[in-house]
Amino acid sequence: MALTKPDVDVLVVGGGLGGLSTALFLARRGVRVLLVERHATTSVLPKAAGQNPRTMELFRFGGVADEILATDDIRGAQGDFTIKVVERVGGRVLHSFAESFEELVGATERCTPMPWALAPQDRVEPVLVAHAAKHGADIRFATELVSFQAGDDGVTARLRDLNTGAESTVSAHYLVAADGPRSAIRESLGITRHGHGTLAHFMGVIFEADLTAVVPPGSTGWYYLQHPLFTGTFGPTDRPNRHTFYVRYDPERGETPDDYTPQRCTELIRLAVDAPGLVPDILDIQAWDMAAYIADRWREGPVLLVGDAAKVTPPTGGMGGNTAIGDGFDVAWKLAAVLRGEAGERLLDSYGAERSLVAHLVVDESLAVYAQRMAPHLLGSVPEERGTAQVVLGFRYRSDAVAAEDDDPEPAEDPRRPSGRPGFRAPHVWIEQDGTRRSTVELFGDRWVLLAAPEGGPWARAALRAAGELDVRLDAHLVGRDVADPSGELTRAYGISRAGAVLVRPDGVVAWRTAAAPGPEAQDLLSALFTRLLAR
Ligand SMILES: Cc1cc2nc3c(=O)[nH]c(=O)nc-3n(C[C@H](O)[C@H](O)[C@H](O)COP(=O)(O)OP(=O)(O)OC[C@H]3O[C@@H](n4cnc5c(N)ncnc54)[C@H](O)[C@@H]3O)c2cc1C
Repeated sequence: MALTKPDVDVLVVGGGLGGLSTALFLARRGVRVLLVERHATTSVLPKAAGQNPRTMELFRFGGVADEILATDDIRGAQGDFTIKVVERVGGRVLHSFAESFEELVGATERCTPMPWALAPQDRVEPVLVAHAAKHGADIRFATELVSFQAGDDGVTARLRDLNTGAESTVSAHYLVAADGPRSAIRESLGITRHGHGTLAHFMGVIFEADLTAVVPPGSTGWYYLQHPLFTGTFGPTDRPNRHTFYVRYDPERGETPDDYTPQRCTELIRLAVDAPGLVPDILDIQAWDMAAYIADRWREGPVLLVGDAAKVTPPTGGMGGNTAIGDGFDVAWKLAAVLRGEAGERLLDSYGAERSLVAHLVVDESLAVYAQRMAPHLLGSVPEERGTAQVVLGFRYRSDAVAAEDDDPEPAEDPRRPSGRPGFRAPHVWIEQDGTRRSTVELFGDRWVLLAAPEGGPWARAALRAAGELDVRLDAHLVGRDVADPSGELTRAYGISRAGAVLVRPDGVVAWRTAAAPGPEAQDLLSALFTRLLAR
């Protein structure tokens, strides 16, 4: 890292869910961040339509969870996510998959204090912009990265203001490449990807039309279209009379995105909804590839890949945007720790080591769902579904930033029966703090946390001394004194007996635990642990 002070600590390129959440979480931790986005505004396409409870846990820390929930006005309208395979909207149903909201909630509600939210991406992104800016992030739209140079002492980037054409140079300790699936930054670094590759090419159209005759008002059902002339999808948005239509095109038959003019899209929409005279007001047309890719490296010196730049997953399962937000949280706490001298630079290697494990889990699950719904010919050649709860809340990290205590190769567990082992998300248990009922999960998000079992008081004191000497930001809570465990569930869920302790990272992941009573060497043990986990 450079010794001289650059213009900003971190330059983020890309203002999608990945870049915006990175900027928010960095700014929230006091990091000087500049984000540049080529487009003049945030996304106009609703794309990611739901926030899973893990995302909401991270958004709670970002201070945006309440606002995102208030933005979720789909849920009030319905609770039914029936997915139908049809020839045309309103026509005969060939298959249907009922995925009720209650089912999703039921799979996760005992594992987290946070609810699901159903806020569409075009409503979420402006909230992230506002809060990142409130915490001091400099967010510039209509500004693009033209080129950059990365070296041992950071990054120098050339930016262009697309309104005026003016170019400027900015220096940063680190560059976060959140520039989407076609990431030019990733490509310029020669970072290759592996995976199933492109599965299908689509044109995405967002349009307004009164379709109450074919789509019942308030319906949020999603349609997979098997029309004799094309295949695609049709779905609602949270705005009355606004709809999305995706139609598949085939470059092998010589088709290109340029063929999909507003006139052609109008004709296809008429066929899709069986309304020959319909005049849709087309708001946007964009090419989009459904693909499954994971980058072979997530970091190259001072450059870190986030979101779709690092991995692309089919949208079946609704995980791409959620995972981009998870990447943003992970990279932000680690960059902040390195920048404030709490951690050594090697901590940044754990970012890719950990998030690529989640990426594999997510891509496998999305492919399994894709095969079920759209590509039965892939069944048997893709992994089987694990279920949303495991992927969202039961993932496991393995890296030098976790003191693993076993070599179980399973990448996830059922969070309804959490093991509390290092690498897993710290289990949710209802506790009382200052007379208020809270979740253990609400203790995490900002600093390191040591939770000591009722007879493990010396662990808490030793941790505070060790952290103090190393300038690590830590909260220590003694169960029975600082937090009450009315159900007696906490020590069992965390596997720390009556005298042990558990160390939880700022991202709410268990770093280390012991069931043993503290001895005279407790402080030395914890000092060595911090030194190792933080790559000091
Ligand atoms: C149809 C569809 C449905 C989906 N549904 C879901 C869902 O239900 N749930 C879910 O979680 N996910 C869903 N996703 C996935 C989700 O939308 C993406 O995973 C997510 O948007 C990725 O965010 P990102 O920030 O990594 O990339 P992007 O959103 O692609 O953002 C990258 C940004 O970088 C900018 N950029 C690129 N180069 C430069 C440059 N040189 N200078 C400045 N700016 C630059 C681009 O303009 C772009 O805005 C869906 C996606 C699609 C297409």
